[in-house]
Amino acid sequence: MRLLEGRSIADRIKVQISQDIQKLGLKPILVSIQIGENAAAEVYVKSQNKTADSLGIEYKFYKLDQATSEDELIQFIQRLNSDEQVNGIIIQMPLPSQIDYKKISQFILPEKDIEGMHPANIGKIPFGKARLIPCTPLAVMELLNETGIDLYGKEVVIVGHSEIVGKPLALLLLDKFATVTVCHIGTSQAGKLEGHVRYAEILIVAVGKAGLIKGEWIRQGAIVIDVGINRLGDKIVGDVEFEEAAKRASWITPVPGGVGPLTVVMLMRNLLEATKLQLHL
Ligand code: NAD
Repeated sequence: MRLLEGRSIADRIKVQISQDIQKLGLKPILVSIQIGENAAAEVYVKSQNKTADSLGIEYKFYKLDQATSEDELIQFIQRLNSDEQVNGIIIQMPLPSQIDYKKISQFILPEKDIEGMHPANIGKIPFGKARLIPCTPLAVMELLNETGIDLYGKEVVIVGHSEIVGKPLALLLLDKFATVTVCHIGTSQAGKLEGHVRYAEILIVAVGKAGLIKGEWIRQGAIVIDVGINRLGDKIVGDVEFEEAAKRASWITPVPGGVGPLTVVMLMRNLLEATKLQLHL
């Protein structure tokens, strides 16, 4: 078994990004918006700010009031859309209940949508033409690339079908001619999750339930990518029973230290891509 760690890959990609930024000859600006107080969002903001600083990216952070309405947030976004200095916009999750992320994300200019969640960006993925793609699926593709596996004809099982992880990832993998099965809560409730997981040559899990995937379900030699983040007391664990799974897997991501460190770097790569789009490069 080999550990599939995100940090060293992230460091390599960071070198590339900072070289590309130097070539552009400007300091791209990423605007990050948080609504109200939230401990989880604060962790992401800190990590994004640190990564941006290390790459020569200006990270502008705005914390809006907890009671901000959708209309107020839309107006705020529209001001950023028309500000030529701003290259990318990210809205931190989670959001207060009065704000619907799916609605709000449509108001970010597609060229500044560094999370790749605007329908105009998502809609290009099936055609293999997207330039701004959600960061976590990009991170998973980088991890798979690192194993050296040829995805052509491989049995890939994704557990989790969210708009931000499972669904776009399935399309990216189809583009590489993998055979993709997407499982979700319905699969579990039908009692079929174990059967699908046992069949996976590559297993990617993005659910958010510690211990959901039993180690003994892992196929001998499978590649296991655990996207899940769960807090158990003062420990952070994924969705896969790591110890038992590691005995069977050929490669497995640690949690933390697998997908996470790469996701934030993919956000910065998207900012670079967004900046190039705005410069018609
Ligand atoms: P989500 O809540 O939007 O989606 C969860 C998915 O899991 C859904 O498809 C749901 O049907 C499925 N699901 C729920 N219970 C299930 C069960 N018992 N069996 C099978 N499927 C089940 O979640 P999300 O935003 O995609 O995030 C998923 C996890 O990934 C979370 O733990 C999140 O914190 C983590 N995450 C990590 C990163 C990272 O950078 N490492 C990035 C994004 C999300």
